[in-house]
Amino acid sequence: MMRRTFISVVLIALTAGSATAQEFPPGFVDPAPLLAAAEVEINAAALRCISFSGNGYNGAVGQTFENAVNIDWPRIGSLSNYTRVINWNTETSIETFEREPGLNPASWKYGLGWIGGTPTQQARQQTHITVGGQSWHIDGDGEPVAIPPEIAEVYRLDMWLNPHGFLKAARLPGADPVAFWRWEQIEKGRDGNVVAPVKMHVVAITMFGKYRVDATINPDNQIQRLKTTVNDPTLGDFNIEHESTNQVTVNGIKWPTNWHSHQGWDDNWQFFRQSTGHNAYGGSFPDIVANTCPDPVTVPQAVRDASFPAPVTVDEMADGVYRLGGGPANSYMVEFSDFVAVFEAPGDERRSLTVIEEVVKLAPGKPIRWLISSHPHFDHIGGLRSYLHIGSTIVTHMSNLEFLNTDVLTYESRTVEPDIVSLWPPTELSEGYNYEAIQERYTITDDERLLHVYYVQPLQHVSGMLMAFLPEEGIAFQADLFDTHEPPKAAQLPAMRSLNTQVARMGLDVGTLAPVHGAPVPWSEFVSALRTLEAQN
Ligand SMILES: [Zn+2]
Ligand SMILES: [Zn+2]
Repeated sequence: MMRRTFISVVLIALTAGSATAQEFPPGFVDPAPLLAAAEVEINAAALRCISFSGNGYNGAVGQTFENAVNIDWPRIGSLSNYTRVINWNTETSIETFEREPGLNPASWKYGLGWIGGTPTQQARQQTHITVGGQSWHIDGDGEPVAIPPEIAEVYRLDMWLNPHGFLKAARLPGADPVAFWRWEQIEKGRDGNVVAPVKMHVVAITMFGKYRVDATINPDNQIQRLKTTVNDPTLGDFNIEHESTNQVTVNGIKWPTNWHSHQGWDDNWQFFRQSTGHNAYGGSFPDIVANTCPDPVTVPQAVRDASFPAPVTVDEMADGVYRLGGGPANSYMVEFSDFVAVFEAPGDERRSLTVIEEVVKLAPGKPIRWLISSHPHFDHIGGLRSYLHIGSTIVTHMSNLEFLNTDVLTYESRTVEPDIVSLWPPTELSEGYNYEAIQERYTITDDERLLHVYYVQPLQHVSGMLMAFLPEEGIAFQADLFDTHEPPKAAQLPAMRSLNTQVARMGLDVGTLAPVHGAPVPWSEFVSALRTLEAQN
């Protein structure tokens, strides 16, 4: 918030009339000549639309195996025959590529879109289209599937995060550019090609009245880095940074051919962050076509009609045991004599507060004393802060404690989408009474009902995985070890073996397996799926 306040003070100073056009506060300069020179350098005025093609890669943002410092997002796929067409006049972006089936369709480029429990990709050919504020995905020649509006907004923002897009955006009403300068020094400068201190300029604009976008401009008037901050439910303010190099000239227009993108902070120094930023996507896209603009794209009816988020559904599984579903991931509620425990907090604040309202209706007057968090993949922990806010203790494996404490359950400001915890951080946050960090096993009980929490071994899918079990009812709660929203997949076999081993070692008499992704199933269904996959592999 401080940075925002400072910038608005600067803007007031610029527009108050007391300063002439040539006078700027110390450290700041006039953005107009910088933008004009950058436009001339790449011939921005001549470009209406662009198409660029090549091959790329993508990483799974939020899906690290361990909460280790300074490791890349898992490199999960290569994108071949990639083509992207951007038309800024119609605010349209069309991206097509081929990728091995079996991954989540949204799990590329913006890993913010990684949501387990949604249909996995069946065909090689993938299409992602954005028109204004609406985005959709097409798997092969299948039906268009709408992308939730908060992710669609980031996709929309992205079509301006390239040198030509930025310069066009800087001319839009409300962009309010400001500029400042700095020296970039040898290794302190990035991109590896700085041999002596170089004076760089940064021009910062505002997009959609919400996102601050910064362009770093070198002495040759070339934009070589673009940076913005978006919201991620898990981490809050989230850095996105595109670096582009190897400019080529096509029809007098310059366009970069090499791209790579960081999501999160690309540092190994500020160790207070566990999740330090990683390469999220990139590639080489040398085939450039300028000003061959595509026909206008109509937003499909199914995309127009899509509504988000899905309403919460309530299914009673046993006395006082409920599945709270309706989205791509479930929470489960277990009622005790004078409190409630909830297994899993997927999604975001809005989803979790809606689930919490349902819990309050089902067990009026009983506090949600415990929130059991299975594992720290981002699609499973975006609601943890909401449970912290209403007073729950977070039950997690001890290996996740540092990550949750330094990156997720913090009292740092969130400037893009402030949530309740960032607006009103509870006192306990600074005092540390927020966790039950378990090593092997933990039991939640009111001396009547028992709910055991186990550390799942051997490690598969992720380190620090917990499951929970109601021995009286024979219900086992687990995440990502066996999903039921789709037919069983061979890719899940190692995790299924791990679950099977854990259940056998603990001697659990499981009748019902309750997954976070998909509906509960009889244990026998899991066993037969395991046998079938074992036989095939
Ligand atoms: Zn998942
Ligand atoms: Zn997971």
